[in-house]
Amino acid sequence: MPEDTQRREIILHGIAASPGVAHGRVFRFLHGEVEVPSYLVGKESQEAEIIRFEQALLETREQIKEIRADVGKSLGENEAAIFDAHVLVLEDQALIDDVVGEVHNTGDNVEQCLHRVSSRYLDFFDGLEDQYLRERASDVRDVTRRLLRNLLGATGSGTAFLDEPRVLVSEDLTPSDTASLDRSKILGIATDSGGRSSHAVIMARAGEIPAVVGLRELTVNLQDGDTVLVDGFEGTVVINPGEQTLFRYGEVSFKRKKLLDLVVDESYLPAETADGRKLTVFANADSPEEVAKANENGALGVGLFRTESVFLRHNRIPDEEEQFQEYKAVVEASSPLPVTIRTLDLGGDKVLGSSDRVKEDNPFMGFRAIRFCLRNKDVFLTQLRAILRASAFGKVKIMFPMISGVGEMLSARETLDEAKTQLEKRGEAFDPQTPVGCMIETPAAVTICDLLAEHADFFSIGTNDLVQYLLAVDRINNQIAYLYEPHHPAVIRAVGHVAEVGRKKGVEVSVCGEMAGDPHFTALLMGLGIDEMSVAPPLIPELKFFARRFTILEAEKLREEVEQMARPSQILVRIKAFHDEKMAGFYDVDE
Ligand code: PEP
Ligand code: MG
Repeated sequence: MPEDTQRREIILHGIAASPGVAHGRVFRFLHGEVEVPSYLVGKESQEAEIIRFEQALLETREQIKEIRADVGKSLGENEAAIFDAHVLVLEDQALIDDVVGEVHNTGDNVEQCLHRVSSRYLDFFDGLEDQYLRERASDVRDVTRRLLRNLLGATGSGTAFLDEPRVLVSEDLTPSDTASLDRSKILGIATDSGGRSSHAVIMARAGEIPAVVGLRELTVNLQDGDTVLVDGFEGTVVINPGEQTLFRYGEVSFKRKKLLDLVVDESYLPAETADGRKLTVFANADSPEEVAKANENGALGVGLFRTESVFLRHNRIPDEEEQFQEYKAVVEASSPLPVTIRTLDLGGDKVLGSSDRVKEDNPFMGFRAIRFCLRNKDVFLTQLRAILRASAFGKVKIMFPMISGVGEMLSARETLDEAKTQLEKRGEAFDPQTPVGCMIETPAAVTICDLLAEHADFFSIGTNDLVQYLLAVDRINNQIAYLYEPHHPAVIRAVGHVAEVGRKKGVEVSVCGEMAGDPHFTALLMGLGIDEMSVAPPLIPELKFFARRFTILEAEKLREEVEQMARPSQILVRIKAFHDEKMAGFYDVDE
């Protein structure tokens, strides 16, 4: 690491979390840490201390409820639910009793007592093996900070005092930190830790704030007065960018803005190539709010409803009625357009907080998704009944994740039949013709997709997992992120093979991994014979816009060229060049 970090340009690579480019002076966000005063209060004042504590509890609850309502309105119930956990911490009688007891036993001021009690709770959580419970520590930390600030009448390290918009830099960000920021003062966000799916990042994306996370050594490299450039497209942060870098990024931002204006203007047009080959664009959506966004952006339905989001939100296995209500709400929001509901994909990095979970050395290759469901028949049957019941309220398709053999597909279908029989006996309505699909996300499923086609009405290629399993590159490991290449010939051949077999066997094939949402891949995927894609709702307009800029013949020619290339880097350069060539006219503007 260079010694003179003040002047030298330092480039750091992290995870691209929210698209866009931002440049500005650094605002070191310190989580609103507050000095905790310590003094003795006389016995006669202890009740007054406790009353102060109770008032702070009420005030804090009101603030959190306000934030929850705001987040619910702007981002939807999924994101707002995190603040319910904060209210639960505030209402935790054991914590309240401990603080009151500490005031009585030590005679110290209530801020000091609260600080000590919460530190004991945090030590306890931090020492736990269970990742979910460890993460609950951040709820306690967040709520305690807010309580302390209210007790002290402090404003925290908010953004209100900033004289100019800045780039927020922090080791970490909590959802409540993000929610309390004045967005007009924040140009971009860069953090040492965090993953693409943390709640803070989800909010940044929804607020269209460029963000890069997982930079690990960003904060240790910063000095007073530094400026920072955040490239949320590539996941890069440049400390003290030089003139050349700024010029390059100035162009990137300008082109992007220009393009987005055009894309929005054309969002009502259909998704098809210049010569009329249809592209069916679905949305990856897990809540009625996301479905509403998808509908606004012209999605033709939901191509992937990740049902584990429902389980994670409840932090337990919801009963049939609870699941049914959630599935029905999404189906009704989408109706008359279809919803593809994927059965539970717990495991890997998605775990419930139950203590009986077996610790696995390789969780992504372990007891996840369909493997878990087939061994927990009651859980699976309950979910299948809930999904089937939702099929009475709109067009539903069911698909099974992580299939690696025909046996799994057959067992899953048998369980589905069992669920249908149970519902028939109960006299419940459902669509008996609900199509059944198979996710293609293991190398085994690619290789035997002809055999799987005999038992599936449709295929959905999950490239997020397929890339990690095909290339043996853990999708969440920062160390080897450079090897995670959707443009690897192995991935392209795999997708092409599945598309071809699907065509021959009369089985529809779509792609629902992140690769489908990246316009650099659109022409290549279409050239490979993919004409259905499911992507995050905000990406839909740009995807449609680009598809209208090439012909299917050009896409097929691109595929032929790429098939001759051995190295992933060559392929990436070629598909980017194709994309940029077709879009060039839309970047060129007369100022
Ligand atoms: C995938 O693997 O591409 C996919 C869509 O599923 P998930 O990202 O939920 O594993
Ligand atoms: Mg997957």
